[in-house]
Amino acid sequence: MDFSIPYYANTANGNFQHPMSIYRVFAKAAEQNNWMEALDKPALSPYMVGTIQNQGINNIATPHGFGEVQHTGRIDINGLLHYASSELTRSSAFVREQFDYDALKMTNEGVTYKQWSARHIVFAEGVGVKHNPWFAALPIVPNKGEWLTVSCKGLQLEQMIKGSVFIVPLGNDRYRVGATYARAFESLAPTAEKKAWLMNQFKKYTDLPFEVLFHGAGLRPTVPDRRPVVGRHPQFPSLSCINGLGSLGVLWAPYLASLLVKHLYASPFLPEDLQLRRFMHT
Ligand SMILES: Cc1cc2nc3c(=O)[nH]c(=O)nc-3n(C[C@H](O)[C@H](O)[C@H](O)COP(=O)(O)OP(=O)(O)OC[C@H]3O[C@@H](n4cnc5c(N)ncnc54)[C@H](O)[C@@H]3O)c2cc1C
Repeated sequence: MDFSIPYYANTANGNFQHPMSIYRVFAKAAEQNNWMEALDKPALSPYMVGTIQNQGINNIATPHGFGEVQHTGRIDINGLLHYASSELTRSSAFVREQFDYDALKMTNEGVTYKQWSARHIVFAEGVGVKHNPWFAALPIVPNKGEWLTVSCKGLQLEQMIKGSVFIVPLGNDRYRVGATYARAFESLAPTAEKKAWLMNQFKKYTDLPFEVLFHGAGLRPTVPDRRPVVGRHPQFPSLSCINGLGSLGVLWAPYLASLLVKHLYASPFLPEDLQLRRFMHT
């Protein structure tokens, strides 16, 4: 957080950060005890407002109260990707195409690919790594997530709600509702079953009518030990990868990119628990 939040908040990177608290809505009274226990943990307490709140949130059902998590926010990733790709396209540093693994050649100085040559290539393909001939051995497990964007006039939420699902305000009474988790799935497409589940969860929190504007699905690249994977290929040091960002990946990404660039150009250091070599050896 110390590295990545200032990165996202930096106006030079477009500033796609929207600071807002999370209201952790308790599903039963016993969860209030968990909240009080968490307050005793020095790593967590700065993010938690101490008192449990019982007075309710506008239009949101909170029969067992809620706690406020502070210093949190939403990053508009769609906005950031759009901004970054247009900026990089302007400086001729972005190409939108399928990567052809057969066209990559290793040289004494690094690599060549079509008309480009470089000292290093970094693969950041998410679950697509399964098709990468050099990094396919990494234990990346796809976890499918589905979400909705809904319009709910009059809800007027200004903070995020976290209960059985997240409800994230996007502005103009539009909300992101999600997400689901599935390690077994038949297709990458959004499903009617998960849409119904997400709508039912949303209805648990408000009686207001709403309209589904969008239903999406994506794959989280997860790792059994829940840590990202970063580092060089054990046999081909010009090839590196950053992957395993399926858990808190948005928060990890700027920090890992900076760590890897320092590792490639300045220092051998990489934290042991993030190292690619925990899965791939010489
Ligand atoms: C439903 C859902 C909810 C999430 N919620 C959160 C959250 O609340 N907080 C959080 O921090 N993170 C969250 N994440 C995780 C986050 O959104 C990203 O999925 C994660 O950070 C992985 O990012 P990535 O860039 O490594 O991989 P991806 O996002 O999968 O991007 C990889 C890119 O590489 C491209 N690619 C792959 N192979 C090739 C090839 N051969 N040629 C060209 N292009 C290729 C793919 O098309 C894709 O665009 C969520 C993910 C999902 C699916």
